[in-house]
Amino acid sequence: MEKTTTSRSAYEWLLNHYRTAAHLESVKSLLHWDQSTFLPEEGHPYRSEQLGTLAKLLHGLRTDPVAGEKLTEAESAGTGEDPYGVEAVNVREWRRSYDRATKIPVRLAVELARAASAGEMAWEKAKPANDWDGFRPYLERIVALRREEAECLGIGHEPYDALLDEYEPGETAQAIEPVFSRLREALAALLDRIGNSPRRPQTGVLHRHFPRRDQMFFGTEVISRLGYRLQAGHVGVSAHPFSVGIAPGDARITTRIDETSFPVALFSTIHEAGHALYEQGLPAAHWGTPMGQSLSHGMHESQSRLWENMVGRSLSFWEHFYPAAAKRFTALQNVPLETFHFAINAVRPSLIRAEADEVTYNLHIMMRFELEIALLRKGIEVADLPGLWNEKTKETLGLTVPDHALGVMQDVHWSSGSFGYFPTYTLGNMYAAQFYSRAKEDVPGLESLFARGEFAPFLGWLREKIHAQGKRYSPRQLLLQATSEDLNPDHLIRYLNEKFGTLYGF
Ligand code: ZN
Repeated sequence: MEKTTTSRSAYEWLLNHYRTAAHLESVKSLLHWDQSTFLPEEGHPYRSEQLGTLAKLLHGLRTDPVAGEKLTEAESAGTGEDPYGVEAVNVREWRRSYDRATKIPVRLAVELARAASAGEMAWEKAKPANDWDGFRPYLERIVALRREEAECLGIGHEPYDALLDEYEPGETAQAIEPVFSRLREALAALLDRIGNSPRRPQTGVLHRHFPRRDQMFFGTEVISRLGYRLQAGHVGVSAHPFSVGIAPGDARITTRIDETSFPVALFSTIHEAGHALYEQGLPAAHWGTPMGQSLSHGMHESQSRLWENMVGRSLSFWEHFYPAAAKRFTALQNVPLETFHFAINAVRPSLIRAEADEVTYNLHIMMRFELEIALLRKGIEVADLPGLWNEKTKETLGLTVPDHALGVMQDVHWSSGSFGYFPTYTLGNMYAAQFYSRAKEDVPGLESLFARGEFAPFLGWLREKIHAQGKRYSPRQLLLQATSEDLNPDHLIRYLNEKFGTLYGF
């Protein structure tokens, strides 16, 4: 379709407008990164003011009525024949974020921001003190506001969908529920078989002395071999590992080092590098527009989990890296590869999601998903959470929750209002397994390539199928494009059954 001068200039206006917003976003990311790594204690209050000013400027740009007019203009002129062409995708996604930002009254947006920051501060104090009663009013306030927000947005079939859509566009509770319940049954059965197996990994070999400097060196060496470009990144240290794509050529990660544990730093480094590889693979030419942005939280998590688990905990990966590890760390010198490999894949139900193994991890997520849905459907209230939490933990993992810090208050997400976020972790795990089984078909001998230290063919596959696509498709559409199939939990179920069946001998 031929473009008129008006629509061309409307599109150019929007490009310019959203690139300005993207610059502010990247400044915000840089300030956050600095805050978690180097900012001195006394610099924090001023940093909050800086971030507050940026948030105000960004909100102004996102809700600018002129942008609304330009969007209407660009839409009515049409964006070309192909709905997945660059301009069509950008206009569609700008519309999506404009509508989301403007459907929420300013009063509610301000109250939500305040409640989120108050909630997080309250959680930081209440968690170590095991003070559920002190924390509860903050959480009640947040839930009330998020319910109101979901009503205002009116996306999907029910309020929960509006919240979920923020993290995983187009996904709905109704679509997830049957997939999760199939996965839950399979995981429970697998966990039973593991529990009944006489084989036990010797995890003690991973908890000897591993010097800090050697861990940092080894982790950095591993991820650069996987394809993480240090010229376009940085590996730092923080209390909670994270990754942040600041700009093209600048995708940073952090790690956490514990000298008495081998897996903590290494697997969080590989995990965060998986996120950063996605950022480094986004099309730089489209930076600052949706075509140059990552697709969703679930898609991001699929990339980190692929590298951390499917690749990083595989035997073939360690056939390549173990000789170097055993040379660097005296603690591993007399540990056979098979013993080490079984130990890094030990399965054991535990109370803390963030430390869970590949089999039980998704059970933690599904528990939170069920509670979130019930809260948004108003089947339960905040006061019911601790009791239900403890019941579900007993039922799913067979464990008794000793206190709220190890139970309902363990995660930061709800304290800052992130409802609808948790399921994206399990979606990410399912995407990862589905991509992995397709990549094995497309790249013959993938695992023997890993054993030879060759990771470029796999990264190339991810680059082409996922990274280069930016926000062109919805997550479900991208799955279909890359694997010729809609979301299918059987890939994850098969992957886990095969892997842990071999390890635990059934
Ligand atoms: Zn992650």
